[in-house]
Amino acid sequence: MPHHRHRRADSLARGMDSPTRFQLLFDARLNKGTAFTEAERDEHGLLGLLPDAVESEATQMARIRLQYAQQPSDLMRYQYLSALQDRNERLFYALLRSDIQTYMPIVYTPTVGEACQQFGHIMRRPKGMYISIRHRGRVREILRNWLVQDIRFIVVTDGERILGLGDQGTCGMGIPVGKLALYTACAGVPPQATLPVVLDVGTNNEAFLADPLYPGLRARRTTGDEYFAFVDEFVDAVQEVFPDCCIQFEDFTNAIAIPLLARHRDRVCCFNDDIQGTAAVALAGLFGACRMAGTRMHDQRILFMGAGSAAVGIAELFVTHLVREGMDLQEAHSRCWFVNSRGLVTAGMPGLPEYLAPFAHDASGLVFADRTPSSAQSPCTSLVHAVDAIRPTALIGVSTVAGAFDQAVVEAMTRANARPIIFPLSNPTSKSECTAEQAIRWSDGAAIFAAGSPFAPLHWKGRLHVPGQGNNVYIYPAIGMAVYATRAHRVTDAMFLRAAEALARQTTEHDLSVGLIYPPVSDILQTSIAVAIEVATLVHESGLARVPRPADIGAHLRSLIYDPSY
Ligand code: NAD
Repeated sequence: MPHHRHRRADSLARGMDSPTRFQLLFDARLNKGTAFTEAERDEHGLLGLLPDAVESEATQMARIRLQYAQQPSDLMRYQYLSALQDRNERLFYALLRSDIQTYMPIVYTPTVGEACQQFGHIMRRPKGMYISIRHRGRVREILRNWLVQDIRFIVVTDGERILGLGDQGTCGMGIPVGKLALYTACAGVPPQATLPVVLDVGTNNEAFLADPLYPGLRARRTTGDEYFAFVDEFVDAVQEVFPDCCIQFEDFTNAIAIPLLARHRDRVCCFNDDIQGTAAVALAGLFGACRMAGTRMHDQRILFMGAGSAAVGIAELFVTHLVREGMDLQEAHSRCWFVNSRGLVTAGMPGLPEYLAPFAHDASGLVFADRTPSSAQSPCTSLVHAVDAIRPTALIGVSTVAGAFDQAVVEAMTRANARPIIFPLSNPTSKSECTAEQAIRWSDGAAIFAAGSPFAPLHWKGRLHVPGQGNNVYIYPAIGMAVYATRAHRVTDAMFLRAAEALARQTTEHDLSVGLIYPPVSDILQTSIAVAIEVATLVHESGLARVPRPADIGAHLRSLIYDPSY
């Protein structure tokens, strides 16, 4: 059939009526490269534009793996995969799914951090949308420039707090791109439904401002009312242009993230993964730890090292869970203690933010060791003395202070508990409050351990310990798939709580027997789908869905999973 009589071939066209030869070869969503069949080549006028062999996706993948293995550094591997995504989207996702454990640290943390820092130098094709504050007043019009109309997920950042790397300005785009790739790879959200966005309000990164290759708005950050008005304009414009879209706020600085979420969470479909996703993954870890230790959630007392957005998010979700289980709210608050950079947070500590008030307890009943260092602001500035006085069952590190869980601290936790729960969640690895090996050695193998960063399995006194990784990737793609399948019009804390419970149930007895409180990352697609089905069920039960309840919620959700095969 001559190529000017293109028929709608579903495998090729994916919603387009008559893709041109140019589109078939250069639109990443349509391109199959050497996998175009003889008939397709004939039909669409591709004969002679490809080498003779008609290859399977498996053969193409073998070539990709060969080329990937030749890349000399993680950053080059990142660029290689990014170019593959630009060239052949299905092959990109098939590759990620084939070995997610290998590719996740490249397309996402930690390599994505370096990619953001180098973005101005390594960028090739732009991905997603860059909305500059210079164009305020025109955000609706700009969003309409995107080529796909049915956008369901936007991950948006203003680039101010990219991982632990600070202000990356417009180069922070790597984060929304990476997170959305994991929505698809880890939970099956179709990539055409996703849109990464940077709100470019300038940067205070001096090196970028001086770099002629910095591709963003060359100005200092706009702040205050003007900043919030711009973000509000964006949120409102999304409601109009993409009415079924969920907005994930990502890597905004703490001082903005908390008010931004509070401002929009009850008005539109949105969430903040740094706050809510972290909370859910930590709570799932606590559920797993309880199973491993044979204890109950309402027996737990948590000491948080760090009192920022991650810590408060975890504490609030833990409290929500305890209250649902029947505990009095005040009692539930009393189960959480915080240490910040000034010491143990107690009632009357000057200058405490409002969200810490319910967790600032009266310490007069605590007995601190002699010579406990105190200050005008806190009766205890020593973590080990705080552990000895409070006797927490769990110690959660979200402070970015590497080494804060030293031998004395781990030993104090072990004196107080048969199975001390020790979660150094700070990222990246260099910021971890302790290593897996330290926690296991200093507790003589008793610690129940999970960290924000990956640690290798180890043996202690003949027993294998596989350190769990408390990473949000167990939560947000699954929440995303549930929202996608139900067209939920809000994302609630109850959904994160359900996700945490569902995730914890995915951990098998075998996982627990080797010290793993989360299911292995290699099984993440299956894990995420199971979690998504439970969250989708809750969405329907709570009346938040915008689609009728299907007879079989699981089967319906599974039918929507993105399939990268040709
Ligand atoms: P944040 O800036 O909001 O909070 C950091 C907190 O640490 C602040 O309360 C600060 O007072 C406290 N702190 C700093 N120095 C301290 C010290 N010497 N002693 C005690 N407390 C100290 O940051 P955040 O968003 O809450 O993130 C904190 C860390 O948690 C980061 O390393 C981040 O990478 C990590 N994190 C991990 C995950 C995960 O999934 N594992 C998710 C979110 C955040």
